[in-house]
Amino acid sequence: MKEYQIKAYAKVNLGLDVVRRLPNGYHQVKMVMQSVGICDELLLEKAERGIVLTADSREVPLDETNLIYRAAKLMQEEYGIGEGIRIHLRKKIPVAAGMAGGSTDAAAAMKGMNQLFGLNVPRERLMELGVAIGADVPYCILGGTALAEGIGEKLTGLRPMPDCFILAAKPEISVSTKYVYEHLDGAGIVHHPDIDGMAEAIEGGNLPGILERMENVLEAVTISAWPVVGMLKERMLALGAERSLMSGSGPTVFGIFTGKEKAEAALEQLGGEHLAKQVFLTMPVGASQD
Ligand code: ATP
Repeated sequence: MKEYQIKAYAKVNLGLDVVRRLPNGYHQVKMVMQSVGICDELLLEKAERGIVLTADSREVPLDETNLIYRAAKLMQEEYGIGEGIRIHLRKKIPVAAGMAGGSTDAAAAMKGMNQLFGLNVPRERLMELGVAIGADVPYCILGGTALAEGIGEKLTGLRPMPDCFILAAKPEISVSTKYVYEHLDGAGIVHHPDIDGMAEAIEGGNLPGILERMENVLEAVTISAWPVVGMLKERMLALGAERSLMSGSGPTVFGIFTGKEKAEAALEQLGGEHLAKQVFLTMPVGASQD
């Protein structure tokens, strides 16, 4: 095989709880992750030597700080790959948005190299390796609907989420994940989401049960610093979303719609307003087949 093309899907958090701060500064979390149809594309080609990364976006670094670069290096070293690799990234996932854009690119690079070089590494092993790049990388290798615990790397696959429409909107601000967690530590958590109840609702195919448990403990921190996130949440509801929530540490907000027409009308409306810079209408995506 000379080249290989692979999609890298974004995620939203249907629920996000922080259990405690660990002595090493990481946070123990409990989250329900869901892949969505918004995706980047990676084109991988064998090369003589090294790692060459190109992209159609100026928003991502192209040096060794790009998570794709780190993933490629990890695969080369771990599996003694003598040949080089050229990777081109077509970026569609909003950057620094809380949708795991970098982590899913890294996951796709690992899966793509596994195919391109015929390594036959089992998915579980790729997931174990991926955590060295980022806590969300193992989930991005798995994809679909999953419960994530530990620092996000302890995963339990769940039944696919019931069909629905997901309207995702990113305001024109950048939110630092570090800032949000630091301020959460100061403020404390008043109410913990019912993540176990949500996992049960997913297993039972119970969409109302999922919707009523959608909560993210990071939301209060991000909204108090960037009120536009709260305004977007409200706007989604006014436009007919059953429920709306911030994803990850933000600033992307997503709304769940049960009807396609209402979701399409909301997309058009929100797209013409100033609250969000990017708006996407998408659907849940199942676990990865790669
Ligand atoms: P998460 O949801 O995991 O917190 P995020 O969606 O908020 O992630 P990313 O899009 O992954 O954030 O980007 C965060 C930063 O990581 C960017 O500002 C960028 O400099 C860097 N980065 C490194 N590699 C990538 C990549 N492949 N795609 C996007 N950003 C990357």
